Amino acid sequence: MKKEQTFVIMNEVRKDDFMLISELKGVGPKMVQALGRLNITTIEDLLCYYPYRYRLIKRSNLETLNQDDAIIIDGVIESVPTVFHFHRRMDKMSFRINTGTQILQVVIYNRGFLKPKLSIGSVVSLFGKYDLKHHTVVASDLKFGPLPSKTTVESIYHETSGLTSRQIQAIIRCAISSNPTLTDYIPLSIREKYGFEEKMQSVLELHFPTSTERLKYAISRAKYEELFVFMLKINILKMQNQKENGIKKEIDFSFMEDFLKRLPFSLTPDQRKCVDDIYADLTSSKRMNRLVQGDVGSGKTIVAFLSMYLNHLAGYQSALMAPTEILAIQHYHALNKLLEGLDIKVGLLTGKLKAKEKRKLLKEIEDGTVSMIIGTHALISENVIYSNLGLVITDEQHRFGVNQRKNLKNKGYAPDILYMSATPIPRTYALTLYGDMDVSSIKTMPNGRIPVITYVKTMEEIKWTLNAMLEELKKGHQIYVIAPLIEETEKSSLENVQALEAKMKKAFGKYFQIGVLHGKMKNEEKESVMQEFKENKTQILISTTVIEVGVDVANATMMVIFDSDRFGLSSLHQLRGRVGRNQLQSYCILISKEKCNRLNILKETTDGFKISEEDFKLRGSGDLFGYRQSGDMSFKVANIKKDFSILLRAKEDSEEFVKEGEYLKEENQFLSQLWDSTRQLD
Ligand code: ADP
Ligand code: MG
Repeated sequence: MKKEQTFVIMNEVRKDDFMLISELKGVGPKMVQALGRLNITTIEDLLCYYPYRYRLIKRSNLETLNQDDAIIIDGVIESVPTVFHFHRRMDKMSFRINTGTQILQVVIYNRGFLKPKLSIGSVVSLFGKYDLKHHTVVASDLKFGPLPSKTTVESIYHETSGLTSRQIQAIIRCAISSNPTLTDYIPLSIREKYGFEEKMQSVLELHFPTSTERLKYAISRAKYEELFVFMLKINILKMQNQKENGIKKEIDFSFMEDFLKRLPFSLTPDQRKCVDDIYADLTSSKRMNRLVQGDVGSGKTIVAFLSMYLNHLAGYQSALMAPTEILAIQHYHALNKLLEGLDIKVGLLTGKLKAKEKRKLLKEIEDGTVSMIIGTHALISENVIYSNLGLVITDEQHRFGVNQRKNLKNKGYAPDILYMSATPIPRTYALTLYGDMDVSSIKTMPNGRIPVITYVKTMEEIKWTLNAMLEELKKGHQIYVIAPLIEETEKSSLENVQALEAKMKKAFGKYFQIGVLHGKMKNEEKESVMQEFKENKTQILISTTVIEVGVDVANATMMVIFDSDRFGLSSLHQLRGRVGRNQLQSYCILISKEKCNRLNILKETTDGFKISEEDFKLRGSGDLFGYRQSGDMSFKVANIKKDFSILLRAKEDSEEFVKEGEYLKEENQFLSQLWDSTRQLD
């Protein structure tokens, strides 16, 4: 307890300690804003904004180059550049250079503005592709001056509008000259064990590489640091969980057996196993900290409801937190239906409640009239006072962090905790990444499911898609359409949806109703659009990236996804999981502008575990956790698959570090900062 106090104080001190980027010379408000978009506010953020790749700068040997090879070359300009404008905003500039051994033609697009600086006799370096046949360099980049005489490594950063990679590096250079300090999250004892160099040294190398050897070394150090921090948090959580006493509940399971008879189906063996695991946890004196992992559509919701019933039998209140209001409302209706005729009161707590209704509900939660409460994160906010909270469930991979648990503890609750997650990840990884939790898996789908038929199509085959859609609509079924992804502003993604809506209206508007869902809408609007779709008042639902996770509309039998090549396989699998939820044959059409072989895997399998393995092979951990990248598991430098051996090492080291109590020692107090960042786990 005392230690935790120290942590808090340390955090506060640290916050003031951080030097803000706005304090740097030459960094104005515009730049601060641009850096903000990259999540950079302090010098420390800036210095830890590592390049995402490196370019080896080495003069190409023209003799050995083939057609279309990458080329890096410098030379003296021999002709006045000519600039040709087209398409209003585009231009194409050409000139000749003398490389010392050859005369080459250079073509570069959209750099016409550089023409005044490119006079005959000046030296430039060019990066691009070599067109051997025409003795031409098709340059993608141009720098003034000759190439360095030695091979060098150039850092390349992810850019944002108004901030190029080079500008980012310049700001970093400026920051470094201000003599900043950086916290090394690798404790001294471990630094010594591996002979790691000083962090600052290594960070300098990452930004301004001096040799490929040293760079590689710096990268592995950065990876280790990132993974060590992650595993340390997991291990500290694990240790805390083990110490935590929960409520030992008394539950007569025979009531449960009766209750199961109310279900319109019988549980699958895996669902039954989950219920048994949870029953054992609830009735033990240890606090439950369990993850129920199961593919989309495997039936996790009912497991959550049954847990709430068990907890109710013990005489305690349960809270079920859903990631969105729509999902909360859906759960609320489903649970009420399940409890029909029983004297159990369920409450729905959403932002939408009128002040009066809300006050009434809060009172009923406080006096215990309401036994089960469903809502969003607001469920565990300060103003909700429970009469006797015994179980908290979070649906759809909302990790429920230390700070939230701390909040509950401060209020005197030590509820059992259950997480529901649809992100199947390979077991070896799960054991490490979810090392702080017990895991129950639902591996088999309920009986009677017909696998979704998946088609991979290009935009050119749009007619085929529209016909297929018409066939389904004629059968009285409904369709989800996911609009193309656009990364830029919300506004353009809105335009995007509207363009698609117009297209769909043209094709189907005469006979069918179309609903539209996008990020800019208010919750209430979203909900009413969803509700209309549920009630089959609309037959086609167009949505931006996310059809709310977990949404269950049985009559929807087709999922059409535009720009599907821009999603990870697991995300597509999740989206596909919105259909095929009953005995009707369902379809998924994956559309991309060009042919994309990767997508064929989805045609071949509907097994989420297999798909996530494939995702793993193809893209590393990047998309593993679905389109709702949860902050706690997206790594900046490390790649869980490629760097799994480093992860395992970090796991062992951090386990020992925690077991030996090292992390509590005076000299390791600096690690307390990590508690600040565990907030990301919330
Ligand atoms: P998810 O695991 O993706 O949250 P849901 O809990 O929404 O999946 O369940 C998907 C559908 O399967 C729901 O309509 C649910 O009623 C149904 N279902 C769940 N368990 C069974 C079962 N054992 N037998 C038949 N249908 C089931
Ligand atoms: Mg669900």
